[in-house]
Amino acid sequence: MLFSKFCETFDRIEATPSRLSSTDFLSKLFLETPASQIRRAVYFCQGRVAPEFEDIEVGIGDRIAEQTIARTAGVTVAKVQAEYRKRGDLGVAAAALLEKKAQTRLASEELTAQKVFESVSRMAQAAGTGSQERKIKILCELLSKSSGAEAKTLIRFCTDNMRIGIGEPTIIDALSFAVAGDKSLKPDIERAFNLSSDLGMVAEVLLSEGIGRIRAFKPIAGNPIRPALAERLESAEAIIEKLGECAVEGKYDGFRIQVHKDRAGKVRVYSRKQEPMTDMFPELVKAVATDVDAKEFILEGEAVGIDPKSGKILPFQVTVQRKRKHGIDELSRRIPLRLFCFEILFLDGRDMTYAPYRERHAMLEKTVSKSDRITVAEYKICKDAKTLQRYFEDALSRGLEGIIAKDLNAPYIAGARKFAWIKLKKSYQGALSDTVDVVIIGFYYGKGKRTKLGFGGLLTAVYDDEDDRFKSIARVGSGFSEEQMEQFSKMLGKIVVKEKPREVDALMEPDEWVAPKYVVEVNADEITKSPVHSAGRGIGADGEEVGLALRFPRMTAAGIRDKSPHDATTVNEIIELYEMQNRAKKHSRR
Ligand code: ATP
Repeated sequence: MLFSKFCETFDRIEATPSRLSSTDFLSKLFLETPASQIRRAVYFCQGRVAPEFEDIEVGIGDRIAEQTIARTAGVTVAKVQAEYRKRGDLGVAAAALLEKKAQTRLASEELTAQKVFESVSRMAQAAGTGSQERKIKILCELLSKSSGAEAKTLIRFCTDNMRIGIGEPTIIDALSFAVAGDKSLKPDIERAFNLSSDLGMVAEVLLSEGIGRIRAFKPIAGNPIRPALAERLESAEAIIEKLGECAVEGKYDGFRIQVHKDRAGKVRVYSRKQEPMTDMFPELVKAVATDVDAKEFILEGEAVGIDPKSGKILPFQVTVQRKRKHGIDELSRRIPLRLFCFEILFLDGRDMTYAPYRERHAMLEKTVSKSDRITVAEYKICKDAKTLQRYFEDALSRGLEGIIAKDLNAPYIAGARKFAWIKLKKSYQGALSDTVDVVIIGFYYGKGKRTKLGFGGLLTAVYDDEDDRFKSIARVGSGFSEEQMEQFSKMLGKIVVKEKPREVDALMEPDEWVAPKYVVEVNADEITKSPVHSAGRGIGADGEEVGLALRFPRMTAAGIRDKSPHDATTVNEIIELYEMQNRAKKHSRR
């Protein structure tokens, strides 16, 4: 298959604002792709060479890309940079500079998709001394065989700036269309993806073995499962009304992690965002070898720092210091972790995600022996609101963040926020019931003291998972520490884009747009209707078109969150929070 097919498809996707058309173009591309290449084709569309949890990247920065373009086009680096400044996109600059040269290319030299996939994998695998030069050589070879359009796609891919904004939901829809001609396979494909976090592998199984294999998909030790998420309700009464008798667990405030042990005995630890963290938590890796009675398993829990003297739980601000790559031995002595397990998802070949909570929990208690490093999260079965409220208050007094109530009969619903889990936190008693995780889509220059930093605030959005776009919700101008301002001005400067990214939906214009990449935690007084924001936009009671906005939004100390933009707070959650806030207001007026 020719690589130009991919480039044509990406160009068509870039030119259309319609999600449906993008899905259609992509599904046609997948249909044409040989089954032997579909896996890498899907990674390529995601701008990657492997699933996200493998942490393998091509690793070519703008500077190296500029050098490579200059070398291939036979011009100076200064000329490439000037072209980049003029066009605001290094891919487009490369296309312009290489176009002439490409016209002399022979038809027999046309790039195949296979050649490109192999080359980018080789670039990603290059490590150690001389690796930079090896990468340049590989990219030079590709560029010298590229047309203008191909050079554009290659440079965008290698510099991690695809600009077509295809998220996982669009790829899943396209796969369903490719096989069934409609969206009917979406729930099955989605489940397989949620269980494996590997869309390339799911596509390969689907196209080579059919939907039957996708429906029979099981967790795989070593592949992180996308986490089940909790809904919110405002009170113990509301929870009991929703669930009836339920299990109530303490809500620990640390790192949510998954611990995997495969048949060969290899232990791997993943973060909530499916990042590998095995090397960071050696004491937990050691503990699971002795304290878990199974050959192969996937456990989930919250890892929390413990004071070695008092044996008490440490606050999140202390636990978070464990998130470092250096000095791990010393840190693990000073702030040892304890894993409070709350789920068992896979056990010696058995998929536990279908089993009801009751059964999973009984198995968890049987499998995990309680030690200093690993134990089962505390819990209590509650039948009435009074008992639940007492347990909640007791949990707060012991330094926990709140409680999570769990439906005794529900399966584990990977990758989704459902009422099978409901969280209740102390902050819910206020006007806005929770912090919100927003995606940075732009920023403003500062005034006064902030002029020096080149940073004066953020334009932020929430994620609309129904149409795979980021919709603006707040201009955040306060709550920043000096360090945060410096951090933002540095980090955001690197991801500035000339125009509003196509996956962003916003009416306001920031001073600079950025690619949606970072998620930050913000607090606000309440959610209000707003004519200037796009989140939840629709026609209000008075016939005016309005969206929802955060009132008096401010940055929290948590700052940048360990979440990908697609895991930010969603538009639907904002609508629910808005309704919850109005119920709480009504209640307090009574
Ligand atoms: P929050 O900011 O409230 O932690 P979140 O967006 O990080 O929210 P949610 O799914 O909304 O995640 O809340 C559940 C989180 O609470 C989990 O991600 C997990 O880290 C944490 N947690 C602590 N104790 C438990 C428990 N016993 N069961 C499930 N999750 C728990």
